[in-house]
Amino acid sequence: MADEPLNITQAQAMIAGFSSLLPAETTAADDALGLVLAEQVIASGDVPSRANSAMDGFAARSGEAGRALRVIGESRAGHPCDVTVGDGEAVRISTGAVMPEGADAVAPIEVVEDEGSNVTLLEQLSAGRNVRLAGEDLRAGDAVLAPGRELGPVELGIAVAAGRAELQCVRRARVAVIGTGDELREPGAKLAAGELHDSNLTTLQALVRAAGAEVVLASHVGDDPAATMSRFAEALSQADLVVCSGGVSVGPHDHVKGAFIELGVEERFWRVALRPGRPTWFGSHEAKLVFGLPGNPVSAIVTFLLFAAPALRAIQGRSPQATSSATLGEAIARHPDRDECVRVRLDGGEVFATGPQGSHILSSVALADALAVIPRGEGSLAAGSPIELLSLQP
Ligand code: AMP
Ligand code: MG
Repeated sequence: MADEPLNITQAQAMIAGFSSLLPAETTAADDALGLVLAEQVIASGDVPSRANSAMDGFAARSGEAGRALRVIGESRAGHPCDVTVGDGEAVRISTGAVMPEGADAVAPIEVVEDEGSNVTLLEQLSAGRNVRLAGEDLRAGDAVLAPGRELGPVELGIAVAAGRAELQCVRRARVAVIGTGDELREPGAKLAAGELHDSNLTTLQALVRAAGAEVVLASHVGDDPAATMSRFAEALSQADLVVCSGGVSVGPHDHVKGAFIELGVEERFWRVALRPGRPTWFGSHEAKLVFGLPGNPVSAIVTFLLFAAPALRAIQGRSPQATSSATLGEAIARHPDRDECVRVRLDGGEVFATGPQGSHILSSVALADALAVIPRGEGSLAAGSPIELLSLQP
């Protein structure tokens, strides 16, 4: 049937078909956390660049214990010592300081008797002891990071060690977040009868940022067609992806779909066989992706995680989130024709519903470790059934 809503997988596939990789741009390493590398990083020099000491102590020639050595200089980190160490000589040396010419080992402070201008070695000193060789970590020309690599703290550190201050990265997605509804008030505002705080705008912005994207516009608009149009036009002019919540249904005060369509956004799907989150709208305009999410807070979260989050991963070059599974710890009733995302807590590989599952009940999401995807069907899904989990982290 043409009007049959898509299921979750079909809707995700539809979105994937319109998700194209954002361009790469030069990014300071300090701003690149979470981005995806769009080039190969090659070590520009040996790391370490010179042989250096692994300990605080004395650089000397290897040999037997009991030798008394004359201290002829000091090599400190960042301040090498330009002398050549001969037999019977030593250089005082710090961790990370360059090994002086002639020395092939370092006696740690703990195994010498330090008399100031002389030291006596209390232990035999074998060649290479406590010496880190040049290039021991990276060799000049080594391929350090491959394109497509997601940049975490360690990747950023090694890129800098390899000589880089900037990296070519797929740029961060620019996202506009818009909450609709006459009844919504700013966080903290005093409420009149029938009003509520706009929690979606805060949650959706946080989800966008947690997905590694940048919020370029966050705004509320009332249930007015002209205001909705102009705010959406602004969003489309600034963002790669627009997420809006509420106003997407077919009531007389729902203007979201009409406004997007009027602005040239093409509807790709409307409604998903999903609970919560059935009234979800997706459209595209050139390379821009537009999500009209339902207004109920839990529906907005679930549909963001199912649909907007994978799109953000795809356009930012990240791989899809790893799937995870668990076992139902209790029987859960099934919806006859919608797959359901049930808020669950995890207990030793088994999951249990956290409480009431209404699409307006945020408190049971706050108790949840994940969402369990309960496929549609008759009756209940029995305790012990394997189920797929959806992470609450995008
Ligand atoms: P709607 O989709 O506009 O019909 O809204 C459905 C329900 O979600 C209504 O009870 C709204 O008050 C509520 N709602 C809509 N937008 C928000 C929001 N930004 N924050 C919290 N609740 C909302
Ligand atoms: Mg509304």
